[in-house]
Amino acid sequence: MINKERLLNHFLEYVQTDSETKHEAAMGRRVAEDLKAMGLEVITDNAGETFGSDGFNVLARFPGELPGEPMLLSAHMDTVVPGNGVKPQIIDGVISTDGTTVLGGDDKSGVCGIIEAVRVILEKGLPHRSAELLFSIGEEGGMRGAKAFDASLLKSKCGYIFDSSGAPGKIIVQAPGQMKIDANVIGKRAHAGLAPEQGISAIQVAAKGVAAMNLLRIDEETTCNIGTFTADFATNIVPDKVHIFGEIRSRNYDKLVAQAEHMRDCLQKACDEAGAKLECDLITNYVSYKIEEDSELVGYLKRAIEKIGCTPLVTAGGGGSDANIWNQKGIPSVVLGTGMTKVHTTEETLKVRDLEDTARLALALLTLE
Ligand SMILES: [Zn+2]
Repeated sequence: MINKERLLNHFLEYVQTDSETKHEAAMGRRVAEDLKAMGLEVITDNAGETFGSDGFNVLARFPGELPGEPMLLSAHMDTVVPGNGVKPQIIDGVISTDGTTVLGGDDKSGVCGIIEAVRVILEKGLPHRSAELLFSIGEEGGMRGAKAFDASLLKSKCGYIFDSSGAPGKIIVQAPGQMKIDANVIGKRAHAGLAPEQGISAIQVAAKGVAAMNLLRIDEETTCNIGTFTADFATNIVPDKVHIFGEIRSRNYDKLVAQAEHMRDCLQKACDEAGAKLECDLITNYVSYKIEEDSELVGYLKRAIEKIGCTPLVTAGGGGSDANIWNQKGIPSVVLGTGMTKVHTTEETLKVRDLEDTARLALALLTLE
């Protein structure tokens, strides 16, 4: 029932509209215009201002006559770098680039799939459920657009976020939360040759603190890593400052917090023993979520997936996405596969067939009785 040619052309146009994170304005204008041309009520916001972006989130309301609570259908408009000047090509039903940029199927496959489904419904006058269509910015930069979005504008009671690799049918029902640890170990500066005993080496203290930490794989649902350990002094100076920056992920919120506190405590102990000072921030970047497989949300989704002839595959995700933010803001949401592959690389591809199935799935979600 979907219009394959229109969908493909739409996708090719969107991927050729530059929208690297923080530069989503042109894409936002295009999406908003397209939705308005379809006769939908469109709302944009100032979310970009919160993280140095020229872009904005785009919300469209799509009231329907079928019974059921409104649902959120969402995908993000921004892409990773290098995402400008995409030259898409289609070989044997697979869309790729010339190898100099990402394709941006992450996540324009989701954006186009949702819009095509709505176009079909409007064109054919199909009865459908009420929905809110939300196209976000800044997802790749830490879900900044979703975080800044005023969720009180939404009436949806569940969310379907089209934004994962894996063929249509894949359902991510849980994903980890993430915290960051941002610490400075402050020692005491002294001349390393003339009076080293007057100094406190921040490098030595910080190293001792880090060495005492449990790091990397903590258990089956918890990981952590320190990515930055920075000090840069002359060799004749006892260093008085080290910057440490790391992350913790867990699908269990208590474990997430416990691991972050463990890392801070290790640094604190090393500082106390040496008479150094610790400045430490534990930042909750996003929290984990878990949707039960026997929930109505997943049950309805499975019926829609089966209706389009695909196979539901329920799984856990390893990273954060806008779904973490919607769950945090009180809208139970899952992430759906759109067929995108090798995302965040210049080898990214998308099968035309998967793009079509993504649109079919969005259509089924909106029209299932
Ligand atoms: Zn994405």
